[in-house]
Amino acid sequence: MSAETLEYHYGKHLQTYIDNLNKMIEGSPYEDMPVEDIIRKATGGIYNNAAQTWNHTFFFQTLSPSAPAIPERLGKALTDNFGSVEAFKEAFTKAAISLFGSGWVWLTEDAEGKLSILQEPNAGNPLTKGLKPLLTIDVWEHAYYIDYRNRRAAYIEAWWQLVDWAKVDERL
Ligand code: MN
Repeated sequence: MSAETLEYHYGKHLQTYIDNLNKMIEGSPYEDMPVEDIIRKATGGIYNNAAQTWNHTFFFQTLSPSAPAIPERLGKALTDNFGSVEAFKEAFTKAAISLFGSGWVWLTEDAEGKLSILQEPNAGNPLTKGLKPLLTIDVWEHAYYIDYRNRRAAYIEAWWQLVDWAKVDERL
């Protein structure tokens, strides 16, 4: 992920969602609400900008330059739910490649501790379904067009090298 992509994606796209949200909620009942509550309650533009703010923050918080190994507990959870870590990565990659248009693919945990892969279009966020997000990839074109142009699969392959598995494990 190049410096230019970070400059645009983190510095401009995310900032625009934050600025839009702040403008939209001014003087409304959402003004002092935690962003997670806004995501659960709002619709339309307020929902979109709140969810995009949350999704991007979560996405960038799960990147690491040092490619930490998958902690044992997380590795076991992935194996229990998907057969193996490799099978999970394969299924997640397939979901990210096949999501039509813009959106996000999530690894989520439900109240019983079951892990699932969820494809969400546009600003979709698992909190609206009562699921706990553990990991996400942004597959909007702005996430990869500077570095990979139309090659979403190449971006996904490179993104795996940046996943902060320690952070994902903490969220379990
Ligand atoms: Mn994005």
